[in-house]
Amino acid sequence: MSTPVITVDRVTKNFTNPSGEQLAVLSDVRMELREGEIVALLGKSGSGKSTLMRIIAGLVQPSAGTARLREAEITAPNASTAMVFQTFALLPWLTVRQNVELGLRAQGIPAYERAERVTDAIDMIGLDGFENAYPKELSGGMRQRVGFARALVVRPEVLLMDEPFSALDVLTAENLRGELMRLWGESAFPTKTMLMVTHNIEEAVQLADRILVLDNNPGRIKGELEIAIPHPRDTRSTRFQNLVD
Ligand code: ADP
Ligand code: MG
Repeated sequence: MSTPVITVDRVTKNFTNPSGEQLAVLSDVRMELREGEIVALLGKSGSGKSTLMRIIAGLVQPSAGTARLREAEITAPNASTAMVFQTFALLPWLTVRQNVELGLRAQGIPAYERAERVTDAIDMIGLDGFENAYPKELSGGMRQRVGFARALVVRPEVLLMDEPFSALDVLTAENLRGELMRLWGESAFPTKTMLMVTHNIEEAVQLADRILVLDNNPGRIKGELEIAIPHPRDTRSTRFQNLVD
């Protein structure tokens, strides 16, 4: 629980807007994700939460400072992390199966192994029977299941989730949270470390070991809250069970 898997070290990020002005989005941000912990990242809209997550995912480069995966500087997306997006980010012209397989394409995994892993991911997240459906034929909850399957098929060490449940209705969100925590509680599940952006404080308190708050203008970590009553690990993964069943 103590080794940092992800270290964000004095990260600053400026964007240049179309009129040429510099926009300071993140300023000197430091944070860590330790092995096996779930951390929630809160902050107002525009405070830089998505940018920070994208830097950790290797999708955006910092203007200064570094993000590291263990000792290695993160300069590109890599198989140790995978991301789930608020608006699912599925490709509409691909089937469920093809969307999930995208997660593996970049990794040079042979076709037969890809097929097996895609089937496993689809079954694991409750999408069996929907393999050949297109995203537009699915409900929001099922679409986000595809988003999770595409991330988890990689068997990432760290799962990065950017408001993963906020586009879903309350009950659908609760069900999917329950699925995720059930998987997380299984000893064979490889993804134990998670960073989740959320606006939902209740969700953060229920799931997270720690809550980080990002302040606006420019984004800095304003505060950190260790959840005072540690989650008994088994109850967190079974708490939603009655809703899932
Ligand atoms: P949050 O996820 O907390 O709402 P974001 O990280 O999405 O915040 O955005 C923080 C700020 O950075 C916003 O003002 C946004 O407009 C700006 N921003 C984000 N990405 C870019 C980009 N690629 N180019 C220019 N500005 C950006
Ligand atoms: Mg965002």
